[in-house]
Amino acid sequence: MDSSAGITPARINVPYGADKSRPREDSLSDNSKTDTDISTEEKDQLSISLWNDRKMPKVDSKRLEETFISAAKIWSPSGQEKEMAVKMKTDFEAMKIPGLTVQIDDVADKAGSDTGNVIVNIPASLDAPKDSKAICISFHLDRVPVRAPGVPEDEPVQIERTPDGTIRSKDSRTNIAADDRTGYAVVTEAIRNITKSGIPHGKIRVIGFVSEETGLHGAKHLDPRYVQGFDYGFEMDGGKVGNVIRGGAGIHHFTAVITGTSAPSIHPSQGKNALLAGIDAVSRLSSDDFKQSGQLLNISNFYSGKRYDNGRSVTNAVPDNAEIAGEFRGKTREDEDALKNRVKSVLEETGKAHGVEISMKDESMEGYLLSENSPAVKLAEIATKAAGIKPKTLTTMGGSDANYMNLKGLPTVVLGSGAFLQHTEREYTTSNALVSATRVVMSLIAAAANPAVAAALMETCGK
Ligand SMILES: [Zn+2]
Repeated sequence: MDSSAGITPARINVPYGADKSRPREDSLSDNSKTDTDISTEEKDQLSISLWNDRKMPKVDSKRLEETFISAAKIWSPSGQEKEMAVKMKTDFEAMKIPGLTVQIDDVADKAGSDTGNVIVNIPASLDAPKDSKAICISFHLDRVPVRAPGVPEDEPVQIERTPDGTIRSKDSRTNIAADDRTGYAVVTEAIRNITKSGIPHGKIRVIGFVSEETGLHGAKHLDPRYVQGFDYGFEMDGGKVGNVIRGGAGIHHFTAVITGTSAPSIHPSQGKNALLAGIDAVSRLSSDDFKQSGQLLNISNFYSGKRYDNGRSVTNAVPDNAEIAGEFRGKTREDEDALKNRVKSVLEETGKAHGVEISMKDESMEGYLLSENSPAVKLAEIATKAAGIKPKTLTTMGGSDANYMNLKGLPTVVLGSGAFLQHTEREYTTSNALVSATRVVMSLIAAAANPAVAAALMETCGK
């Protein structure tokens, strides 16, 4: 089975109907409970078959929590990930894994960051079966910088661990970046555990991406050669442990520029009012027509009118300019196209009705959709079960670095890393979620180097 087996390139030939009937779900779930309704017997069986006669290494939850907290204290909003990049490099080099190398790629300028992506290369262990799959595991190094109003920029992040194992902000003054420090912590601990325990593993590449939150810039500019020779990708990024996200929405950032004709305020009929046209367009774009399942339209900005250099508004003229900005998302290419066409025709109609020019710019980010039988999806499900968790395979309206990994040809799924209430001061994770997610990552690594799993995948995926 080669790396492209089972992947659906750029969403062609995918039964869209099946996806449309799915409930809409987001990875931003506020539910830290992990489904563990797999019977102990089934769990043991899976575990035994996956790990052969070896035992899954035990997770040192204290060290795992420390790894999470030390990373969560680093303030690294998008574009300022250098300190996290240095930490990642230092942590992986300290593992002393034979043959391990760490590189920082050259995307810093293009991604608008003070560092490139961090790429850790781990060769297959000497005892790995020769048909082991090569896997890429990733997370992102930036965080959304959330501070309550009035909290100074340099105030350190205060983190507390409650007796029941919840890890959160002590005072809700800043977020703790569970998105995506959970990804960082669980991958780091899983690799440390697997290699220390001498479990056979195939080739692994770990990537810490920069500037994910501001538009997936690190993943977007990653040289595609970094995914060549790899079979599957797994992005550990937020959400409930057990989530296997096989599809992410295509996202379009759009701007509509409205050009009217200015006129003195005392002769309004001589002008074409761009502000009124803009308000009409926003109102039409907010109609129920745009609230379809699998589609999402958000108007985020509206500007109009002119100002003097001192900031004072020009009030005695009919405004001849306006700008509307927003984004739309579609679960499938058909959803995206349908939305784009509707937005365009609404803008055209509005322009005609008001006698103004409206032009639309649209910057899009490709979505991805792996089939339910894609080996990357199946491998993730097998590993999740072996970790004792019931997998929940779904598609989402969110975007992630996986959008670009898939676009570059690496079938990549997003797995829950145990972050909840992301991007808020109340963001949290739990000790249990961190341990479960670490077990999932360890199982992924073991599964990729397990000939029986490879055989089972061949059978299921029909390749
Ligand atoms: Zn994230």
